[in-house]
Amino acid sequence: MTGPFAKRPDFLPFSRPTIRQVEIDEVVDSLRSGWITTGPKAERFERDFAAYTGFPHALALSSATAGQHIGLLALGLKPGDEVITTPMTWASTVNMIEVAGATPVFVDIHRDTLQIDERQLEAAVTPRTVGIIPVHYAGAPADVDAILAVARRHGLWVFEDAAHGVGCLYKGTHVGCFDRLGVFSFHPIKNITTAEGGVLVTRDDALAHKLKALRFHGLEKQAWNRYAEGGTPQVEIVLPGFKYNFMDLQAALGIHQLASVGEFNERRRALAARYDELLAQVPEVEPLGMPGYEHFHTRHLYVVKVLESAGMTRDEFIAALRARNVGTGIHFRAVHTQPYYAGKYPRWIGALPVAEWVSERLCSIPLFPLMTDDDPAYVVAAIKDVLAHRG
Ligand SMILES: *Cc1c(COP(=O)(O)O)cnc(C)c1O
Repeated sequence: MTGPFAKRPDFLPFSRPTIRQVEIDEVVDSLRSGWITTGPKAERFERDFAAYTGFPHALALSSATAGQHIGLLALGLKPGDEVITTPMTWASTVNMIEVAGATPVFVDIHRDTLQIDERQLEAAVTPRTVGIIPVHYAGAPADVDAILAVARRHGLWVFEDAAHGVGCLYKGTHVGCFDRLGVFSFHPIKNITTAEGGVLVTRDDALAHKLKALRFHGLEKQAWNRYAEGGTPQVEIVLPGFKYNFMDLQAALGIHQLASVGEFNERRRALAARYDELLAQVPEVEPLGMPGYEHFHTRHLYVVKVLESAGMTRDEFIAALRARNVGTGIHFRAVHTQPYYAGKYPRWIGALPVAEWVSERLCSIPLFPLMTDDDPAYVVAAIKDVLAHRG
C-alpha cells in the first residue's frame, strides 16, 4: 500500500468463524430430523476427530472448560494437590484447578514464543505436585519432550491444553495426548468451531470410561438413544456426574469444520506469512518467535508485542487501531494478575517477570480464514499510521 492512509469503511474484526452453506444445511437437517441433542452426529464427530488426530478416544463436550473440569477430576485432582501451569493462558485452565480445590503453581514463559519455560519446571516441583498443564500457545506446540522428561522424573501426569491446537504437530505427531489427556476448544474464535464445544482425547480406556460418566450425569452406559426405537429407558447412575454433553446441533457444524481444518489452517498460515513479511519493516511491533524444534503451527493467533519504542501503551495502540476499523484481542492477561488470583496468591506478583511484562504489551491482530489477501496489508498500514501519529 502506498500513498496516504485511507480508513476502510467497514470494521475488520479480530476473528470471525467460517460458516458456509454446508454447515447451515447440516444444522437445518438436524433441526428437521427431530434429534437435536447428543445423538448420531455427535458420535460421528467423535469418530472423525479420533481419526484425524490419531487418538483412540475423543470425547466431545459442551466446552473445553467442561473438559478441563472433568479431566482434572478424572485424574484424581484433590485439595492439597499442586498443578504446574503457565500464566499465559485463558483463565479456565487455572480456574478448573482452583474449582477442584487444588493449588495452581505458575512457571514463567519464554519471551519470544510465550510458551511455558520448560527450563523452570523442575524447580517448581514440590512433594505436593501431581501434574503439569502446558498450553500449546497460539497454535505452536510447547516443548513436549522437555515437559515429559520432568513429568516422568517426578511421576506427574501431563494434561495438554490444546485449545489452539487442532492440526498442531510436534515433531510430526498431533498434539493433545503425549501423556494422559488433552483438550481442544471449538469456541467461535478457535481454528474450527461448533459455536461452543470442546473435546477430550486420551489413549487410556479406563480414563475414557470414567470421563464419559462424568460428562453425562454419571451414567454407566452412554444412553443417548434411550428414547429411540430399540433403546431402553432404564439408566444407572454410578457416580455424581455433570451435564457437559455435546449436541448434534454442535456436531452438525463440527463435522464440516473438521473436514476443512487443513484448508482453514493453510489459509491462516498464508495470511500469517504475509504479516511476517510486512511487519519486518515495523520494529516497534514485534511478532512472536517460532520454537526451534520441528513443528506445524496452526496460526491460531497472530500476537504482536507493542514495544517501548512504539511510544504508547498497548491499550492506546488498541484504541488507535479500533479508530481505524481494526479489531484486536488480548491473549492473554497473565492469569496470576487477575483480581481473584492476585488476591489469593499474592506471592506470584513480581515472580513471573516475563509474563507480567508481555501481559501489558501483547495484542492479537486480525487473523481468520475469511480475511482477504489485502487485509493484512491494510492492518499493517493502519499500524504504521498509528505509529506515525503517536504522541
Ligand atoms: C479458549 C481456551 C480455553 C477454553 O475453551 P472453551 O471451549 O471456551 O471452554 C482454554 N484454554 C485456552 C488456552 C483457550 O484459549
